[in-house]
Amino acid sequence: MFAELQAIQSAASSLKTAGDIVNALISLGVKAEARAKVIELQAVIIAAQSSAMSAQASQMELLQRVSELEGELMKLENWEAEKQRYGLIRDSGGCMIYSLKQSFVEGGEEAHALCPNCYEANNKSYLQPSPDGARTAGQYCPKCKASFRVWGAARSGTGLAR
Ligand SMILES: [Zn+2]
Repeated sequence: MFAELQAIQSAASSLKTAGDIVNALISLGVKAEARAKVIELQAVIIAAQSSAMSAQASQMELLQRVSELEGELMKLENWEAEKQRYGLIRDSGGCMIYSLKQSFVEGGEEAHALCPNCYEANNKSYLQPSPDGARTAGQYCPKCKASFRVWGAARSGTGLAR
């Protein structure tokens, strides 16, 4: 795609040169019939320049989109690797949550759990104590705002995924 962009830029540059030559011809004071043809040629060159410029803009948009998609792909690939560190468990509170696997906790990481809704939507969101924690003793997801009755994994490191 960079080759296409270079080709368009090269065409635009050639057209500019052709336009300069036409302007020089006009200033040379050619005969009336020749002058009419030169002005006609000038209009054709201007139209071609305009087409080259819009092709260049489309090409830039495509390059931008490719770059965005590459970024999204990399993010998804990273998330696929990150997902492998978690396992789906039923917490002692009865909720299905994604918990950090036991081996990582034994390796020194803090036990924690992820929101299953956000996990399925390819987002990583830590379950946090509910703002009204004392009343419901639950956890909630700050991203999707779902509430969970979670007692084990997220709080004490018990009931971890293997
Ligand atoms: Zn969530």
